[in-house]
Amino acid sequence: MNVPEGSGVDQEEDLKEVKRLRSGPRRPDLETLYCIDEDGSHHVIHPADVRGRFQRIKKAVWTILVVIYVALPWIRIGGHPAILIDIPRRHFFLFGHTFNAMDFWLAFFFLAGVGLTLILLSALYGRVWCGYACPQTVFLEGFYRRIERWIEGTAPQREKLARSPWTVRKILKKGGKHFAYLVLSLVLAHVFLSYFIPVRELGNVVTSSPAAHPAAFVFVMALTAVMMFNFAWFREQLCLIICPYGRLQSILSDPDTIVVGYDARRGEPRGRYNREGRGDCIDCYRCVAVCPTGIDIRFGLQLECIGCANCIDACDEVMDKLGQARGLIRNDSLNGFEGRRSRFWRPRVVAYFSLLALVFGGFVYATSKVEPIEARFVRLPGPAYVIEGGKIRNQFRLRLLVKEGGPRHVSIEPLSPEGAEFIFSQRDFDLPLLEYREVMTFVSLPRSSFRQGTAVEVWVRFGEERRTVRAPFVGPDD
Ligand code: SF4
Ligand code: SF4
Repeated sequence: MNVPEGSGVDQEEDLKEVKRLRSGPRRPDLETLYCIDEDGSHHVIHPADVRGRFQRIKKAVWTILVVIYVALPWIRIGGHPAILIDIPRRHFFLFGHTFNAMDFWLAFFFLAGVGLTLILLSALYGRVWCGYACPQTVFLEGFYRRIERWIEGTAPQREKLARSPWTVRKILKKGGKHFAYLVLSLVLAHVFLSYFIPVRELGNVVTSSPAAHPAAFVFVMALTAVMMFNFAWFREQLCLIICPYGRLQSILSDPDTIVVGYDARRGEPRGRYNREGRGDCIDCYRCVAVCPTGIDIRFGLQLECIGCANCIDACDEVMDKLGQARGLIRNDSLNGFEGRRSRFWRPRVVAYFSLLALVFGGFVYATSKVEPIEARFVRLPGPAYVIEGGKIRNQFRLRLLVKEGGPRHVSIEPLSPEGAEFIFSQRDFDLPLLEYREVMTFVSLPRSSFRQGTAVEVWVRFGEERRTVRAPFVGPDD
């Protein structure tokens, strides 16, 4: 071994891991995915433990994100949950605003904003989203991997257990781990359900028979099954094989993008600790041992790198113990690694910022235009008009909804066309909050009074507020 005393790899478990990687059947290369064996089977990766400043930053970020994830459905703004997607009633509550199915077009701004933010982040800081904030990373590294570590031990112990024959001890360990995974997956699935069912009703849904709420039951079971499959077995394959975002990195980044990389100018020629003329890399393999996707970052930037910074912390620890400067592996741009200056503002960054500002502005403007009260005519299916006894009749549904404030008393008053006869299925009633009401409306006008361009107009009073609702009155051309 070319590992010096106090080099950061002098712990027994670390040494075992380094030996395994050096002498094991496979080493990372640039031609194959390390997580897939030659026969196509999953090559399970057991990343070694790592400590350091990026681990502390990630833990803090993950804690904040998980607290937000759990708390949002409980926080009430304007009498509603901060976020609730009420599918049966077709309402969506977002930080004090109420939207319904007719406001769905606003999702364009939201999705475009999320997409552009990710694109901008990728151009500036590579896969920072993947390493720090993606739910796959947060849940896998923050919860599932910890449970695994807690029950099965360090990476070499986990690897040994995986290779050992089935014994009572192995069954208990594997069974215990998967039981813990199952409980955690169920909890996370129920938290997700609270974004669709108000938390006040969730307790009742969870404790009553599945037959009483089949959709919620199937949703939670399906989500739990997906999480078990993903977090217990599939893991990094999701990032490497399925996730399209990772595939886009090569077009989203440029030589000025900050990525996790290895300073080959400083590290090469790598070699044994006591070798004359070596670079700063002592080829200890710690950076490979801690990588959750099993790559060797010293080959250069790779598709499989999720930017988790484990290798930075691992290498910094080695450098500290060798008394060498940190940063052999670090966050820097490809230009930076080549000794050139990196630019923050590049044409693509300016373009992404501008587009994002445009979309954000559009979202704020469009949201401000969403009315807290909805009142509109919807023409009934079938012919646009009927002629009967010398009169032209148009028929509508007057759709009414109060989204904010509280229940209102509604009254309807016809305005025009003059001389028309109006029949409403209801004219005075109480309208509860967030409950659609459709008032059948029949408007008859003597044929002699009809002119092209005639409009139907009514006043709808919602308590103190009044809305004028219009629709064209249609009739024959002659
Ligand atoms: S880059 Fe750092 S951690 Fe990786 S092998 Fe070289 S010295 Fe070890
Ligand atoms: S190469 Fe480093 S940053 Fe990239 S995935 Fe592996 S450990 Fe994380």
